Amino acid sequence: MTTPVYENFINGHFLKNQTGDTFAVKNPATDEVIYHVEIADEFIQNAAIESAKQGFAAWSAMTPIERSRILLKAVAILRDRNDELAKVEVLDTGKPWQEAECVDVETGADVIEYFAGLAPAQVGQQQMVGNDFYYTRKEPLGICAGIGAWNYPLQIACWKSGPALAAGNAVIFKPSEETPLGAIKLAEIFIEAGVPAGVFNVVQGASEVGQWLTANPNIEKVSFTGEVGTGKKVMASAAGSLKDVTMELGGKSPLLVFDDADVSQAVSAAMLGNFYTQGEICTNCTRIYVHKNVYQQFIDELKTRTEQNIIAGDPMDPEVNLGALISKKHQELVLGYIDKGIQEGATLLTGGKALSPVSAPNGYFVEPTVFVDCKDDMTIVKEEIFGPVMSVLVFDDEDDVIQRANDTHLGLAAGVFTKDIQRAHRVIHQLQAGICWINSYGNSPAEMPVGGYKQSGIGRENGIETLDHYTQTKSIYVGMSNIESPF
Ligand code: NAD
Repeated sequence: MTTPVYENFINGHFLKNQTGDTFAVKNPATDEVIYHVEIADEFIQNAAIESAKQGFAAWSAMTPIERSRILLKAVAILRDRNDELAKVEVLDTGKPWQEAECVDVETGADVIEYFAGLAPAQVGQQQMVGNDFYYTRKEPLGICAGIGAWNYPLQIACWKSGPALAAGNAVIFKPSEETPLGAIKLAEIFIEAGVPAGVFNVVQGASEVGQWLTANPNIEKVSFTGEVGTGKKVMASAAGSLKDVTMELGGKSPLLVFDDADVSQAVSAAMLGNFYTQGEICTNCTRIYVHKNVYQQFIDELKTRTEQNIIAGDPMDPEVNLGALISKKHQELVLGYIDKGIQEGATLLTGGKALSPVSAPNGYFVEPTVFVDCKDDMTIVKEEIFGPVMSVLVFDDEDDVIQRANDTHLGLAAGVFTKDIQRAHRVIHQLQAGICWINSYGNSPAEMPVGGYKQSGIGRENGIETLDHYTQTKSIYVGMSNIESPF
């Protein structure tokens, strides 16, 4: 059986490359190649820039309310096609259908809807200066590049294109080479909704294509989601033409469970924040600090629920709640971290091995894994693993646990469980992280800005402030009286 071959999406349609080079995409749950994708060669790259220039001219000339109306049509189509798009995400990522069906498309559509609503509300300022005055305009940047990771491919494409397009920019988007189809579907939907050709283009490939985007002088901004190390390379390359950057990078986030917490709720948060999307979520609370008075109760319930309630298997089965990791290579990396945890003296509470479920025997599964007796300097406690691996640590002093939680170069997210309202806010205000939860974990509505402190990122996605990251301010001074000149 031959598999489909997808071309790059340029100027409103698929465009064949000249080299004929392609790459294969596998379903992580079956280890089978499901389709091929053409790599963006020089011909495609040049066409993408020309297309985006034309797209920008047409799109930025429209009024914000016209752009908003078209984007809202795209939102409606996304929602209409929820199941078809969710299936694309399941086959590309290996994540469970029960998640993709209600989260991936919906949270992407929400963000486009949110920014479509905000677009006509963007205003400049006006101020008198003597008899003269000035006013400001919020103008789009031009061509923006989006570079995505593989864990939420369609959602990431929506989160980057929503504010960029609402503000009047054109976009060239490069999805991860592991999960390239969702962005193509989005491109088709934008065209169907009436977004002019050239406004949203999709180029395909791995780091070389990403590097071309970050170095290209016609591109004004790069919004990147991926690893910290890659983010540093992207930023260094973008500096060559002084591009604006947004960086959504990795984390190693702490969850603090105090002895007055609702322990069952804290266990729910810990499991969601480590096993949802089989642990491949940037904000995961992979360091769980539990107060010594509730430690035993916490790990007893955690062990029972992890061993009884997790169902791994064919991700398309609606009962399955633990999917396959993205690739064989990533599965090996995660298992390598588990070995390191054991070698460095942590105790396995549960899990620790590769899994081969009956309904998906060739998939890249890893058992939901919990380590206890963890120490702050262990590799599993310090490094992002990006798999279903949780480290549990004990504490007994508030100031001490805050200091331990902050002792990392990362600062993406953090959480606190306590019923003491003053402690909740006091502690969360001291945690060095951009996305924080009190008695909750993981929710990220379109209205809430998200992004990292320290090396977890720069700039924000979602929330009102993100529109500013896709516009530039033009100040215009207006003289109302004769110029006084010494010449
Ligand atoms: P990655 O850094 O390997 O790749 C991300 C993207 O960058 C891919 O599209 C890749 O092709 C491209 N790329 C690779 N090298 C490049 C280069 N030199 N120049 C330009 N582009 C290049 O990350 P990944 O493995 O795809 O994703 C997992 C990582 O993403 C984790 O660290 C995770 O924490 C992070 N992440 C962060 C967020 C967030 O919002 N903060 C969200 C999701 C994932």
